[in-house]
Amino acid sequence: MAQVVKGSFPVEKFVKVQTPFYYYDVDLLNQTLDLVKKESSANNVEVHYAVKANANPKVLSIIASKGFGADCVSGNEVKAAVEAGFPASKIVFAGVGKTDPEINLALEYNIFCFNAESIPELEVINELAAAKGKVANIELRVNPNVDAHTHHYITTGLNENKFGFNMDDLESVVKMIAGMKNLKLIGLHFHIGSQITDLSSFENLCVRVNDLQEKFESWGVKLENINIGGGLGINYEHPNHMPIADFESYFRLFAKHLKLRAGQTMHCEPGRSLVAQCGSLITKVTYVKKGKEKQFAIVDAGMTDLIRPALYDAYHRIENISSDADEEKYDVVGPICESSDVFDKEILLNGTKRGDYLAIRSAGAYGEIMASGYNLRRLPQGYLSTEF
Ligand SMILES: *Cc1c(COP(=O)(O)O)cnc(C)c1O
Repeated sequence: MAQVVKGSFPVEKFVKVQTPFYYYDVDLLNQTLDLVKKESSANNVEVHYAVKANANPKVLSIIASKGFGADCVSGNEVKAAVEAGFPASKIVFAGVGKTDPEINLALEYNIFCFNAESIPELEVINELAAAKGKVANIELRVNPNVDAHTHHYITTGLNENKFGFNMDDLESVVKMIAGMKNLKLIGLHFHIGSQITDLSSFENLCVRVNDLQEKFESWGVKLENINIGGGLGINYEHPNHMPIADFESYFRLFAKHLKLRAGQTMHCEPGRSLVAQCGSLITKVTYVKKGKEKQFAIVDAGMTDLIRPALYDAYHRIENISSDADEEKYDVVGPICESSDVFDKEILLNGTKRGDYLAIRSAGAYGEIMASGYNLRRLPQGYLSTEF
């Protein structure tokens, strides 16, 4: 019989819920969060969880309960973060296209700061804050032109991307903000990309930030925070062997290479690395279809439930958690009327039959939150392991 290391799931209890659904392993989530808490506290770093990775209210409230802050990219995320228990004083709001109602909502909550990305945005925040008689804290999102060596859809720190201010424009922006009574410049913000596994990209970022800090000093500006964004990658190939990202090396790298000034605090915004590995998309095999040269495991989850393979050609490990039979080769495909609705091709699974449960692993980030109703499908539900 094949010896396959698989995740552990209470498969016999899955009958009580409808597939496909997201399963979140609370023990692993807690272990991950506790490690991040320990390492960040030891290095005096403030962590803001990037809500866009997974905004399931049950997951959010576990993260909030650990005392982390939240990084939001829409008004609804700000609202969801507050409702989940994140203190408004630890919420930052980023994004290139913040609308007036979103900015007003954030001002009403008195969030910690706006990570601003353009001059017209600064003008609008200043105006809306003035109308409320408030002063809004601002971090300038700077595009550091650092290559994150990741998928081009999730590289964000290059000159060609839409994000942030160009470094060349900063001096005039700083002068402009000095004349805006309802804005207070408190820091700089960077985010170079996502699923970064080559830590040298972060080292390059530190070099840019250090240079930039000298410029700000020469302009006489004192910065309270340096926010280095998110982006730490996880191991999609080996979720069972590497369930927690290497946060020790990550925080050590910044402690070593980022030159903070007296009184300055480093902030970071991990999303994927906090929640990806604790989540699996659980799906049931509807049919096993034998073709001439292939066999297909046709499952009840599709690209509507987890779009990463179709959108980024992303790899997710798939396990048959109902079977110990000898391994065979399958293409695992969904029911959606699109050729890209394929989770993986020619992979080995324990002998698979109709009704078996498959776990599509490392799906806790950019999974449930990116689900759509295409083909009029019902949105997948998310359940904590403690609910079974
Ligand atoms: C997406 C995003 C993050 C989180 O990125 P991860 O790769 O999930 O860690 C953090 N900050 C900003 C501004 C983002 O857009």
